Parts: sequence; structure tokens; C-alpha cells
Amino acid sequence: MAEVFKFGGASVKDAEGIKNLAKIIQLYKDKQLLIVVSAMGKTTNALEELTKAYAEQRDDVQAVLEGIKAYHERVMLELFGDASHPVFDEIANTFVEVEWMLEDEPQDDFDFIYDQIVSIGELLSTRIVSNYLAHSGVPVKWIDARSYIHTDNTYREGRVDWKRTCTAIETQLASQLSSHIVITQGFIGGTSENFTTTLGREGSDYTAAIFASCLKADAVTIWKDVPGVLNADPKLFENTVKYEELSYRDALEMTFYGATVIHPKTIKPLQNGKIPLYVKPFLDPHAPGTCIKESEVVITQPAIIVKNNQVLLSISTKDLAFITEDHLCDIYGIFAKARVKINMMQLSAISFSACFDWDEKRFKKLEVLLDGQFRIKYNQDLKLYTVRHFQQAVIGELTARKTVLLEQTSRHTAQIVVKD
Ligand code: ASP
Ligand code: MG
Repeated sequence: MAEVFKFGGASVKDAEGIKNLAKIIQLYKDKQLLIVVSAMGKTTNALEELTKAYAEQRDDVQAVLEGIKAYHERVMLELFGDASHPVFDEIANTFVEVEWMLEDEPQDDFDFIYDQIVSIGELLSTRIVSNYLAHSGVPVKWIDARSYIHTDNTYREGRVDWKRTCTAIETQLASQLSSHIVITQGFIGGTSENFTTTLGREGSDYTAAIFASCLKADAVTIWKDVPGVLNADPKLFENTVKYEELSYRDALEMTFYGATVIHPKTIKPLQNGKIPLYVKPFLDPHAPGTCIKESEVVITQPAIIVKNNQVLLSISTKDLAFITEDHLCDIYGIFAKARVKINMMQLSAISFSACFDWDEKRFKKLEVLLDGQFRIKYNQDLKLYTVRHFQQAVIGELTARKTVLLEQTSRHTAQIVVKD
């Protein structure tokens, strides 16, 4: 009976956005509704900056923190008029926990510190949104996602303990939904030792899917600043087309290869529970958007996905011996250890090439681990195009005036790594 709504950072980036969210909730307030909200606007980026500044003990730590505080205060002032509303204390208290941490020198692992700091973005946004909903007459209840989404301690990419998570959701949440609209944080979870984890950047969609799956919800709606799922990013391409309907399979492949409209981990739990996923524009709540569901529909408009900031690494043996299965086993092991995910790969007689997202820390680790056994060469600042249900003409257009470094096509999907 319940439905899950997810509002991303862009939808709550300012007071106007939060007011618009409240209007949408008013339309649906007779439903059993769980609302999952991301950090406001670019807060997560700012908190990442704060974490870096703190880890490197830079002298702008306070300045970065003050910027984040001031932004939230501005929005609150606009929503609540003056600083006498109790939400101001709630927000100040949320900041205090981070301030305590910032006072000491960093001792812990970077990923651990990251999660303890970056997670407050969602705690802040949901407190503000929740208070505003209450202020507009919605019977709302704020819950802490860390008591429901249980993860292991893989910081920055918490792996969900589905059994504990579903038990918590079934036993403690379902009943609250009959009397309240419940609001919670996307992106964050908790370990069995009560430390905070995050689920990976843009992970709030995944949070929505986890809750929906455990609640056996009727539907999930992700409210976005686009009309639905488009065949390409409208910021990069003209004449994009919106899909009315997509199969879980197409949505899965598109998001896996970098379509940022939905987090890649979102689809599987919904597919397993046969829960439809709607992607709708928050500025036009009555528009149909895109429905992702069990479907035989084959899309006719090729989906173009661009991943920037790619590295193409080629790995060969030091004595230029052939790459054997044993080498591959070692290489995959090293990638797993460095937590680098491969977007595309190719094997030739004497080298193995892999294309992946640039992440300085992880790359350095990879380099060190490979260094003993292999010779490596790499190219940075590349683009990876993935075209699903491709047509040759589209590929021609994408690669015009660019150097193609690696290309692969299968029946439904083409992938090309290019240098501009
Ligand atoms: N706030 C987090 C991020 O920006 C999670 C999300 O928005 O889904 O990555
Ligand atoms: Mg976001």
C-alpha cells in the first residue's frame, strides 16, 4: 500500500525547492508515503571538500564549514522567517557533532572520516524539510535511516545487510506509515557498532529502493529536474527524447554504464520485487514521466551515456610474456583490492587494458599493487561513450574529430573510449 518518493539534491537546493516539495506532498498526503531526501544542492560536494581539508589539515577547514552552515541558515530563514523556530537548534546540534570531530587531529582511515562528516548533509536536509512539512500542516515523522539501513563497515560504499535491514523496516516502520508521512535520509546507513556509513555517491535512489523493497511498496517515484529518463544528457546533447517506458533490463544497463539519472544499484531490488519505478519532473508533478518496469518494450532511440574523467590503463608483463589466466587472476585481485571498478576492458596477447573512473587515491593504490609484477602505461582525461541499441550513424557523430583509443561492440551495446 505504501509508496516511496525520493527527492534529490537539486529538488531541495533552496527554499523555493522545499516549498515545491511540500506542494507535491500535499497532492499525495492521503497515501502511505515514505519520503527519502538527499542533501541540499551541492552540499555533499562541499562536505567532501571539508573532509579533504580536514584530512590534509588545511587552514581553510573552518571557512569551508562556515560556508555550509551559512547556506543552510539562509534557506531556513527564508522558510521559517526568523531564527526562533526550533529547527535552528536541531541544525546547530547536527553541526556540533562534526565540529567535535574537526577539533582533533585526524587519526582514522580516510573513508571512515569521510562517512562521519559527509553523512550530515542528509541529516540537515531532512530536518529542515521535515520541519517545513510540519509547518505546512503535513503529519510528518522524521526517522534516522541509520537505524534501518544496516550495512557492513565498507566505508563510502556500505554493503547492505538485507536481513537486518528488512527486519527493522518491517517491524518498526510499516506501522508508522499508517499515521504519518515518514521522512528519512537517503545515502546513509549504520554499522552494527553504530558508526555511520554512506552507500556511494548519489546513493539516495538506492536507499529509496531498499525501503521500497522491504516494505513491498506499490511504487517508487524519483522526482527530478528532467521530464523523465532521456536518451541522453540534455546538458550535453540537443534534441533528446524522453522514454515513456523502459524495461528494468535497459535501465540497469544504462545506469551501470553511467547514466546518472538513477543510481545503478536502484534497479535490482525493484526488479526483484516487481515494483515499478517512476522518474518524474518535480516542476510538473502531474506529468507522466518515465515508468521503469517489467516490460518487453525495446527502445528505438539509442541511449547515449557519457562518462568523463576516465583512465585507460594498459598492463603488460615486465618481460612482455603473454598474459595468462594466472596473470588475469592477479590483476582482477589487485583491482578488487584497490576498489577500482572497471567500466570496460580488453585483452590482447601481451596486454590487458582497463578503463575506469579516475580517483586519485584508488589509482595510486592500484599503481603500487601492480608495480611489482607488471609494467603499466596510462592515459587520463578520457571519455567513455556507451551507446545502447546503437546505430552506426550515432557512433560516427560521437567519434568525429576525436581519437578513438578503444572500441567494443556487442549486439546491443557499443562502447568507445576517446580523447577529445
Ligand atoms: N547527497 C548524496 C550525493 O550527492 C547522495 C544523493 O544525492 O543521492 O551523492
Ligand atoms: Mg544528488
